[in-house]
Amino acid sequence: MRGGPAYAKLAPMKPFIRYAGGDLDRAGIFRKDETWILEKLAHPQSRIVPVWRNLNLIDGLGSNPTTRSIDRANADHILEIAHQITLLGIAGEVAYFAADISSLEEEPAHALVNSGRFVDLRQVGPLLGVEESALMAHARGMLFWHQKHQHCGVCGAPTQSREGGHMRKCTSTECGAPSFPRTDPAVIMLITHQPPSGPPQCLLGRQALWPAGNYSTLAGFVEPGESLEEAVAREVFEEAGIHIHNVTYQASQPWPFPASIMLGFWGEATTTEITIDEHEIEAAQWFDAPDLRKFGEWGDDDTALHLPRRDSISRFLIETWLTKVGV
Ligand SMILES: [Zn+2]
Repeated sequence: MRGGPAYAKLAPMKPFIRYAGGDLDRAGIFRKDETWILEKLAHPQSRIVPVWRNLNLIDGLGSNPTTRSIDRANADHILEIAHQITLLGIAGEVAYFAADISSLEEEPAHALVNSGRFVDLRQVGPLLGVEESALMAHARGMLFWHQKHQHCGVCGAPTQSREGGHMRKCTSTECGAPSFPRTDPAVIMLITHQPPSGPPQCLLGRQALWPAGNYSTLAGFVEPGESLEEAVAREVFEEAGIHIHNVTYQASQPWPFPASIMLGFWGEATTTEITIDEHEIEAAQWFDAPDLRKFGEWGDDDTALHLPRRDSISRFLIETWLTKVGV
């Protein structure tokens, strides 16, 4: 399924953050109790969320995708194959577990789950509700962390999953170091500027690897030893040569593609002449609201300029700004 045509069917909606906002209780205290975990894992009301090679299980691909979890009663075969099982949380009496079946090849993996397809969550994210997108992002993010922490970062010995999959412990008796799920902080920012005349403008850029015409807000990873505000200012100057001030936090979004938390800001430019770093971006440009309202959708196969993906916090930052400026 291509993103463009599906996006085009969406009616305008109030901006919201996808991949977060589910009301699952993560059961931070209970999950330390192995007996409780085993009881929940055996409970017939529990549900299993299979993940295969970082892809999520989706039914109804096309215009009406829905995420799919599997009744515990029908999941013995999945749990036997899974090399990692992680508690995601509980909703009332129902516990949700993510199960990684990546050791299977593609065809057996699909045969194991009977229906639906394993797809990149971003392919259907804009069409999913809050709960569904949050649960799938959580499952994908947790299992990716397990994949990348099979060995101890201190001594190199194998690690074992503990606490329902929310900790890994080094198996070396001399070391025994614990490691915990990590997410990499990245800042993403809408930088604005009020020219002497005309409507306010915002700064967008594009990477050379993106499909033609696609633009987004600037973004980058936070480095050790800097505040979020400093990271915002550094990235904007590095990528576009623009100095800024008045950095204000707006919202955040888990972005498990593969392992980030996106921290969204607005900032105001104090200079406007753009000098791009060609190693980071291919182009950057000031756009006003009337410009943006002519943009098409990310993935559209045409020659127009395109807004960022509907499921991204970049899009959220732009849409909330458009609401504010009202031009
Ligand atoms: Zn170790």
